[in-house]
Amino acid sequence: MIKIEIDRERCKGCGLCTLVCPHALINIGDEINGHGYFIATWESDGKCTGCALCAEICPDIAIAVWK
Ligand code: SF4
Ligand code: SF4
Repeated sequence: MIKIEIDRERCKGCGLCTLVCPHALINIGDEINGHGYFIATWESDGKCTGCALCAEICPDIAIAVWK
């Protein structure tokens, strides 16, 4: 099973990960972290390939990909 984890306190809500995901599985939700940022959320529906583009683009190293 493939999954990603987004560290909610590292995320700044910049949205870069939402732009690069080829399956549009990441969105900026309505949840706010302790720093006051709207954070990225992930819903796979089994479509995540584990390509790790989201993790590579994240400037805050907030995404981990597990295969
Ligand atoms: S690229 Fe990183 S900091 Fe930016 S929204 Fe995605 S997880 Fe958050
Ligand atoms: S690992 Fe690839 S497919 Fe999965 S959420 Fe990240 S960019 Fe999208």
